[in-house]
Amino acid sequence: MRGRISEIFASLQGEGLHVGQRQVFVRFHGCPLHCIYCDTPARSFRWMSCSRVMEKVRRLAGRDRDPWVSLTGGEPLDQAPFLAELIPVLRREGMRVYLETGGTMFEELKKVIRLCHVVSADLKLPSGVGRTFWKEQREFYRLAGRKAFAKMVLTGATPDAEVEEGIRFLSRLPVVPPLVLQPVTPIRRALRSPSAAQIARWGRLAASVLRDVRVIPQMHRLWGVR
Ligand code: SF4
Repeated sequence: MRGRISEIFASLQGEGLHVGQRQVFVRFHGCPLHCIYCDTPARSFRWMSCSRVMEKVRRLAGRDRDPWVSLTGGEPLDQAPFLAELIPVLRREGMRVYLETGGTMFEELKKVIRLCHVVSADLKLPSGVGRTFWKEQREFYRLAGRKAFAKMVLTGATPDAEVEEGIRFLSRLPVVPPLVLQPVTPIRRALRSPSAAQIARWGRLAASVLRDVRVIPQMHRLWGVR
């Protein structure tokens, strides 16, 4: 089997709870969603076999102890059969698996969740993606359990009511994941970062309902690394 791979490289994780951690990134091509803030638009890709991906991952992991490998995208779960072949090989070689996903494809998650260590799952708000996914996301977080943390990308145009709805949604899950509020990086002119007042307000609101909340922007953009 072969997967559609955009790139494989080593860098520092720039988002979420594992920010600053050295990881090898395997970027999967393509995603069925169209988020307004997506920073991985259609790139070129190569069809790669699992053994070819592993060759590159091994070389980039170098002498790291128990290397972390981020399976990112696009949407890696859109290629679940390939993931189901790759992840067991990563685990057999002592690597730790960090899955970065839009958090909606729960049927596909079932095929791989057992062998993932960490799942970074977006919480999708309608203003960012054009519709709601509450049902799919509820099932997704239920399956991911304690492996998941939620990431909510926020722009200057995100309505307070949506942020509140997202926080309430998380608070009702059987296992409440940590929440990362990620102010968007204005990579396009149409995107506006939230103001300091918005960030402070949303942080206060989230912390009044949830126990583990952090505000973390995209650090790799600040550091100027990939
Ligand atoms: S889920 Fe992620 S990869 Fe897919 S469109 Fe949204 S931001 Fe882009």
